[in-house]
Amino acid sequence: MKFSGKNVLVTGSSRGIGSEIARVLAEYGLKVWINYRSSHEEADKLHAELSEKGLQSAVIGFDASNEDEFIAGIKAIVESDGELSYLVNNAGITNDKLAIRMKGSDFDSVIQANLNSSFYGSREALKVMNKKRFGSVVNIASIVGETGNAGQTNYSASKGGMIAMTKSFAQEGAARGIRFNSITPGFIETDMTGKLKEEIKEAYISNIPLKRFGSGKEVAEATAFLLSDGAGYITGEVLKVNGGLSM
Ligand code: NAP
Repeated sequence: MKFSGKNVLVTGSSRGIGSEIARVLAEYGLKVWINYRSSHEEADKLHAELSEKGLQSAVIGFDASNEDEFIAGIKAIVESDGELSYLVNNAGITNDKLAIRMKGSDFDSVIQANLNSSFYGSREALKVMNKKRFGSVVNIASIVGETGNAGQTNYSASKGGMIAMTKSFAQEGAARGIRFNSITPGFIETDMTGKLKEEIKEAYISNIPLKRFGSGKEVAEATAFLLSDGAGYITGEVLKVNGGLSM
């Protein structure tokens, strides 16, 4: 895959899907800014792993759901590298419960962590990218942002919001050639899905045409494609990575 840009910030890349995105993008030759909120040790380990392979990365800790911290994070990257070529808004949380038991604060905290963080990042990246008339952003949404899911009114609303917001950013960025796309993963093997009970996992797998959960690497390769020059005519798109679960 060909990349005309040089660096990328991946939010929430200390663990899970984000760490696989960081690995894959570093392998493709980008300098990867590994972001974490609390998993400093994991972020440092990933940085060491990439350095051992001769790949470029740097660690930057900030809470992506905090507007001021996100602004400062992107400023620090631009001060260091002179630009931000790519952004992947991957940081996300769940806080599942049935709607009738969900407090307003349970709803708000997931919207803040998933949707607001992606807004802060996309806006700040667009400001920087506008100056160079170059850049591409991928937002990691979710299949439930398209289908909804019992027990996830907060999470599905945040992810549905991300999909619509990405299309709006795509329309604002297009005049300067800056692309915004979303990925909607289905069930992917990470700590997030590790919380599921085995019988629930099996029930989900029985409904997936490819009969397995996906890997972080599979989401990472799709992300790399959407960022790459090869996807130069794709913007505002939603790419499903879900084993055929929704077609
Ligand atoms: P995960 O294993 O729980 O990892 C979440 C990552 O996000 C961690 O690196 C965590 O860092 C970081 N993070 C969370 N809140 C943050 C914040 N406010 N600021 C900075 N970093 C933050 O989750 P995952 O399964 O890899 O999910 C990654 C993304 O894919 C999420 O947006 C999720 O909604 C989406 N997704 C996942 C699945 C799935 O099946 N796993 C399916 C669809 C969509 P710390 O440990 O430092 O807090």
